[in-house]
Amino acid sequence: MSLRKIATIGHPILRRPARQVTRDELLSPTFQRLIDDLIETMRDANGAGLAAPQIYEPVSLCAIEVDNNPRYPYKPPIPLTVLVNPEIIPITDETFDNYEGCLSVPNLRGLVPRYTQVRVQALDRQGNPLDFHVRGLSAGTYQHEVDHLLGKVFLDRVRDTTSLTTWADFERFHQRAFIERAKALVERFGS
Ligand code: ZN
Repeated sequence: MSLRKIATIGHPILRRPARQVTRDELLSPTFQRLIDDLIETMRDANGAGLAAPQIYEPVSLCAIEVDNNPRYPYKPPIPLTVLVNPEIIPITDETFDNYEGCLSVPNLRGLVPRYTQVRVQALDRQGNPLDFHVRGLSAGTYQHEVDHLLGKVFLDRVRDTTSLTTWADFERFHQRAFIERAKALVERFGS
């Protein structure tokens, strides 16, 4: 395994829709190594998730994991989840305003409307089909990562640009109010 470099905003790879992965390709040792590198790079950078284009690989693959994350201390835990060729289908019209950050957008956060409940369809790293629902704050994390595979970053979905803030000023001016709202969401959905 090795740590990969993380692409930052402005690099064209972040703007290209990722290509679908074939089953044979997914099961190859090279692709399995890529998955291990993606996970290791995500953990090293304290990401809640990381998508393959963020490490310069234009394939439809992302990893998500939250476990006492210092970047997002209010996020409920999500066990390590690897998604290949994922699709997200909203199962409600209801949205919440999620204060997001991104390893590819250094030192900036902003409010992004995200569906409170989504259905996720994908393959796992062994090629088995996954089909599950995600609710609450965790649903925002899934939507953020799958957006990367569509060539989108969270900034594209920020509606109110006055919500944009550095990480230091997030802590200073926005964190307290956001954590209250995040807690209410986690209480309601349990995730
Ligand atoms: Zn991101």
